[in-house]
Formats: sequence, C-alpha cells, structure tokens
Amino acid sequence: MELRLSVAIDGPAGAGKSTIAKILAKRFNLMYINTGAMYRAVTLRAMEENIAPEDKERLLDLVDSLDMHFKNDDLILNNENISEQVCMPSISNNVSNYAAIPEVRERLVYLQQKMSEKYNVVMDGRDIGTVVLKDAPFKFYLTASAEERASRRYKEFCEKGIEVNYEELLEDIKRRDYIDSHREVNPLTKAEDAIEIDSSNLTIERVVDKMADYIISRTKL
Ligand code: C5P
Repeated sequence: MELRLSVAIDGPAGAGKSTIAKILAKRFNLMYINTGAMYRAVTLRAMEENIAPEDKERLLDLVDSLDMHFKNDDLILNNENISEQVCMPSISNNVSNYAAIPEVRERLVYLQQKMSEKYNVVMDGRDIGTVVLKDAPFKFYLTASAEERASRRYKEFCEKGIEVNYEELLEDIKRRDYIDSHREVNPLTKAEDAIEIDSSNLTIERVVDKMADYIISRTKL
C-alpha cells in the first residue's frame, strides 16, 4: 500500500509556519500547500475589483472564477505567480475579513482537501489540524510571542527592501490573531492531538528537527 503522509501546521501569523513547512516538504518529499496564500489571493483579486467582504454574491462569484494550484511552493492564480504580491501589507491588513466569510472558507477548504487527496502534503494555516486535515497523522501547533513574530516580519520586509513600521506590524499581527481566533467558523485553535511548539526562543533548524524527529519516530520509512 502506498504510504500516505500528511502534515498539518497551524498557528498565528509570523510563527514561522511557511519557512518550516517548505523545509519539511523538501525533506519528506511532500507538496507544500500554503493555505494562507489562498485566502490572500481571494483578498488580492477582491480588492482589485472593489468587492467588499460583505458583498457576498460578487465575492463568491469571484472565488468560483479563480483557478489555484501550487508549483514549487508558489501559488499560481489563473496562470500567474502571485506569491510576492499577496505578501504585501495591504493584503495582510484585509485578509482576515475575507477569510471570516463562511462561504469563502467552505470553497477553499474543499480545494485544499482535494489537493490533499491527490498528493502527500504539508499544509499550513489556521484550521488545518482541526478541519481541513482532521485525520492527519502529524499535527503541529506553532506559536511565538506577538513581539517576536512582528520582529521577524519586520526583518523579512527590511531584507526585501520594503519599508514598514514595526509598531504597525505588531498591531496588524495582534488584530489578525484576534479576528482569526474569534471568528464563528473554523477559528484558529490548537487541535487536541496537535503537538504545540513555542518557537520564540528556538531557531528554525531546531523547530524543523523537533518536527522531523517526531515524524520519523512514528513512521516506518
Ligand atoms: O498564513 P497567513 O498569515 O498568510 O494567512 C493570512 C490570513 O489568512 C490569516 O490571517 C487568516 O485570516 C487567513 N487564513 C485562514 N485559514 C487558513 C489560512 C489562513 O483563515 N487556513
């Protein structure tokens, strides 16, 4: 029988999920599915077309018109690689409002589950261990203090030459944490069977090693 390996990583913004997921994907030959990028893609197109989160009919028509797939860790939206665009602060500031719409979630969760049926995946997001991959054999919940997360984001933007303000990043992170963990549908929460790792004082390598050791110790590879 073919070995099915799926890894779920949840946690708040800036905890290191995507960096770590990409490394695990290479190490275990998994497809990396960045579900946050999918919510960001919806936000990008909705904002371009002046569709507010409340304008449900137009918003859902838009979501239904989008073709999303992943290639080399990047999200390809209607044949365009939009990975860089969706990381901009204007998208981060608005994404949680679009992600809180139940019908948007329903559609994206469906797509994510289809991808996981087709490939062995490592998927990161907010509701992966609790909803999207409820039966995943490996679930991690990655956290870090809001200040540490903001300062990591700050460094990332500075390295890319994008001007940002630390205080504003910290505010955005706190606001998103609040909306993401208080929304009615699929809020951010740790799955009961997820392993919690606080990365505030750990290097990326340490976190990856902890996860990889756990996976290897429970898999007959
Ligand atoms: O992971 P990232 O920070 O890119 O996610 C952007 C936003 O997308 C989150 O703040 C959250 O509002 C939403 N999201 C979600 N469920 C997921 C992944 C992301 O609601 N599985």
